[in-house]
Amino acid sequence: MDVPHRHEHAMDRATFLGLPEGVDLVSVTPSPSGVLLVDVVSRRVAGSCPGCGARSERVHSSYARTVADAPCADRQVTMRWRVHKFRCSNSRCSQQILTERFPTH
Ligand SMILES: [Zn+2]
Repeated sequence: MDVPHRHEHAMDRATFLGLPEGVDLVSVTPSPSGVLLVDVVSRRVAGSCPGCGARSERVHSSYARTVADAPCADRQVTMRWRVHKFRCSNSRCSQQILTERFPTH
């Protein structure tokens, strides 16, 4: 399977995979074991602090998290989401680091 380069193709693929609104497809990689690795990322990279409610776009770090593991047709699909961690923009906030939440329907 080839990786979509044009935006509208990515949108079609995202719809096909049932991705939540605001989530973009990054790549689809067939692994040697036959599992289809689907990498996704939030379209809008920003977090809302659970401690004080301040919005932050200061990305602190990120890591890949598996959010879905499902068979699609005759293939196993593993969805990996690029989770961003933010630093709270409020210096008085005790939360300091907040983790992006996966957008759901
Ligand atoms: Zn905060």
